[in-house]
Amino acid sequence: MISLQTRKVLIDGDWRSSSSGAVFQVVNPASGEPIFQVPKCTLEDVKKAIDAAKKASKIMAGLPVGVRAQLLKKAGEIAESRKEEIARSIAQECGKTIREAREEVWFSNIHYGDAAAEVMRYRGAVLPSTADQVATSAGDLKGGTSKRILVTKEPIGVVAVISPWNWPADIPNIGLSFGLAAGNAVILKPSSYTPISGLLLAEIYEAAGFPKGAVNVVTGSGGEVGDALIRSPDIGAIVFTGSVEVGEEITRKAGIKKLLLELGGNGPIVVMDDGNLEHAVEASAVGAYYLAGQCCTAAERILVQESIHDRFVEKLVERTKKVIMGDPMKEESDMGPLNNEPSAKKVDQHVSDARARGAKILTGGKRDRLFHEPTVIDKVTPDMLVFQEETFGPIAPITTFSTMEEAIDLANATPYGLTAAAFTSSLRRAFLLAEGIKAGTVNINETTNYWEQQAPFGGNKKSGLGRELSNWIMEDLTDTKTITFDIEKVVDR
Ligand code: NAP
Repeated sequence: MISLQTRKVLIDGDWRSSSSGAVFQVVNPASGEPIFQVPKCTLEDVKKAIDAAKKASKIMAGLPVGVRAQLLKKAGEIAESRKEEIARSIAQECGKTIREAREEVWFSNIHYGDAAAEVMRYRGAVLPSTADQVATSAGDLKGGTSKRILVTKEPIGVVAVISPWNWPADIPNIGLSFGLAAGNAVILKPSSYTPISGLLLAEIYEAAGFPKGAVNVVTGSGGEVGDALIRSPDIGAIVFTGSVEVGEEITRKAGIKKLLLELGGNGPIVVMDDGNLEHAVEASAVGAYYLAGQCCTAAERILVQESIHDRFVEKLVERTKKVIMGDPMKEESDMGPLNNEPSAKKVDQHVSDARARGAKILTGGKRDRLFHEPTVIDKVTPDMLVFQEETFGPIAPITTFSTMEEAIDLANATPYGLTAAAFTSSLRRAFLLAEGIKAGTVNINETTNYWEQQAPFGGNKKSGLGRELSNWIMEDLTDTKTITFDIEKVVDR
């Protein structure tokens, strides 16, 4: 029997086992085989990580921004030299195809340079004072105020990054790179399904030369390790990406801390009758089947104007039948398995609920182990689970509408508001749809799975709090301080 390779976690600059010696297994979702063992960290390990990060946060805060930027650039070079290894690790533990995994590494590797650039240009302000002017003698105004006001952006201290399994390198690396750029120390708690990519990121930051304790990783269950981080008074900010349910739990347990919450989505694509049909079909397929539908930005609902319904559906079914589902490590595979059994059960539940309530499965609908066929479901109505909830599977549910106003109401008829898309050739309709749909991002004539690295990313409604990327995330990773000076109340004028 081949024994599994055991990974260690990085705490205070040391690669260690859990203080209890306990481990858990990481399973390849495509084969069902365990691939690694990882430390099951204890509360003692979390405390050590927090203590180390607190110490390192003072060093990080004192590092000139130019030095932080240089370290990030160095980390970016190392990550580039290891990109195929990271992509293979992502594909193995997450189940996304090797081509999708390479795309993830491309996104992840952008953050080092972006964070380095951002910290060099991120700045506070000098404000005019509204205080009374200074009187030199009674009734004689000197024409000026004695007050000067500076607004500065300071590191918070220790930032906890808690990340999901569907983007195991890119998502934790947003919190890590920008958190460090802002002068904080960071503790990462990666998903228990995909902890290996997070450990590879820690290796990269360590090799780049960040101070000991500036980057720590603790692996183990969300309910224990994650919970301890959330509740700790020594953590100043939490960057959490995951489900709405856990996000809501964090808002109840975290107390007063900065919270950046990137939560689930249920993105609609609205296809108007004046939209480009071919592009709308392609965007719907990419939106529904990319990463087997396991993206927060997935097209979870496809709203089609009745007059083009039949033509749209025919083309989408044709396109769906061309998706190659198979071994994620094979270059020709378009779609891999679902990541885990609880996720797969939720997809089954949504498909059978839709069927029971009168929807029609036009193609797909079955699964073998974690491999779920790409599936088109027609005649979906707002009372169905597949419409109301985040399905997180390769499902394209179609609902028809007659007017644009009805489409906007349908798009907004769920508690989510992450990304949305609309296809139309009319500028007027494009604006009205973009303004009417409540979501953090609305893409016109693009899929829901499209985002730009320099634009703010995040959700409205239950899809989250705050915005990631570029200068937008720096707001959540820094404290704003107002400093006032009175230059007249001094002895040596
Ligand atoms: P999840 O179950 O909410 O878990 C996310 C992370 O939280 C994991 O590291 C998990 O650890 C940890 N966790 C679980 N319970 C916790 C608790 N009580 N306290 C603290 N931490 C806890 O989400 P997931 O299934 O990994 O990811 C899929 C979800 O993420 C989907 O809803 C998806 O839409 C969302 N997502 C959102 C975005 C975005 O940018 N908006 C991006 C990607 C994914 P364990 O793994 O140990 O349980």
